[in-house]
Formats: sequence, structure tokens, C-alpha cells
Amino acid sequence: MITYETWDDVQKPTFPIDNNEKGALHVLSWAYDHYGDDLLYACSFGIEGIVLIDLISQVRDDAEIVFLDTHLHFSETYETIERVKQAYPRLRIHLQSPSLSLAEQEQQFGAELWKKDPNKCCELRKIIPLRQAMTGKKAWISGLRREQSPTRQHVEFINLDKKFQNIKVCPLIHWTWKDVWRYVHRHNLSYNPLHDRGYPSIGCAPCTAPAYTEEDLRSGRWAGLGKTECGLHES
Ligand code: SF4
Repeated sequence: MITYETWDDVQKPTFPIDNNEKGALHVLSWAYDHYGDDLLYACSFGIEGIVLIDLISQVRDDAEIVFLDTHLHFSETYETIERVKQAYPRLRIHLQSPSLSLAEQEQQFGAELWKKDPNKCCELRKIIPLRQAMTGKKAWISGLRREQSPTRQHVEFINLDKKFQNIKVCPLIHWTWKDVWRYVHRHNLSYNPLHDRGYPSIGCAPCTAPAYTEEDLRSGRWAGLGKTECGLHES
């Protein structure tokens, strides 16, 4: 087992697959062999998450998966999670809540913090909870794809993650939007019905609108707020 004492000890391992390959299953096999239970998948249960869960279940059917439950998600997202739990009963899926309830957040920061200061809201309801969920973990998995947005074009399979001081494994970097949907339909996977109503990227309800541009599938997130990422993927 690898143990990191400090951030200086975190080294990016040599990965045996060329970055030009799409081999997500190979990446996942390598990652679970390498990190075992010190590997966590932080899943948003969007369409990439549905693909990754199916791939992960083929490699580690009792893998640990966390969903950052901001208490602000669409009801369709919670229903999707329940269906996934039933389809993969051995996976250890749990919901990580922020320490502040919505009422406590309103008391301390005012109503609808996501409108006034979305970065603070994401920090309280996503970043700190993920940090807590990753306590003791050496690596985490994310469904980032290079095609998703200009900010994600340089993501690699294995990344040093300065924000969380560990390794971020991104098996889907070379998958296109079509690859994702081809996989979902070929395997008849259940997914969030909001995808069929114009939402390619689904986050918290107050910060997610339909996206009308194929150039940036995340354009419906934080629309009009000058923000494109929740902060989980910034180093
Ligand atoms: Fe808050 Fe919006 Fe971030 Fe959700 S996506 S945590 S509502 S700012």
C-alpha cells in the first residue's frame, strides 16, 4: 500500500497506457490494482457517471462511490441514484452531506447564497464535503472528458491533484459525447431523464439550465454567473 505523509510525497505514477488510447477499463483495472480501497469515485450521476459506474462494476463490484448531496439536486437525480443502487447492489454508494443544513447556511450567509456568491456555496456544499469523503484516500476517480469544455482539454488519465493533494484518475478523457451515449444505449443503462429534456450536464437545480450549444455542453451550468466549474477540478 502507498502511504503519503505530505503533499511532497505524492508522485504521479507511470501509467502503462498511451494517452491516445480510449481504454477506460484498462485505466480502471490499473487504478483499483494500484490503490485498492484507497480509491474513491466521486460520482455526479450524470451520463458519464452512469457509464463509469457500469465500467467500475466490471472491475470492482463493491467499489466505494460518493455523491456530493448538496440538498439542492433535482428530484430526478435522487431517483436516478436509487435506480442505480438497485441495479448494482454490491456497490457501496453513499451520499455525503455538507455540515451546514440549508437553513443554517441561510442564517449564516443569507438566502440563496448560490446567486450572491456561488463559489462560497460550492465550497461549503461540495468542496469541503468531498475533502471529508476523501480523508485517508490516495486517489479519486472523475468522469471528466476532454471534449466537455475548453477547461478540460488537457486532462490526462492520471493527474496530480493539488487541490486535494492526491491523484485524480480520469478514465473517460478520450470519450466523445457520442461514445458515451452509444455505450449507455448498447448496455440499456438507466439514466437521469433530464438528459432527454435538454440538460447535457446536471448539477444543483438552482445552477443548472438546459444547454443549447454543442460546442460547450456545460454552458447550462451557472449560466449568467460568470462561473464554469464548481471548483472540484481546479488546482
Ligand atoms: Fe451551490 Fe450552485 Fe454550487 Fe450547488 S452548484 S453548491 S447550489 S453554487
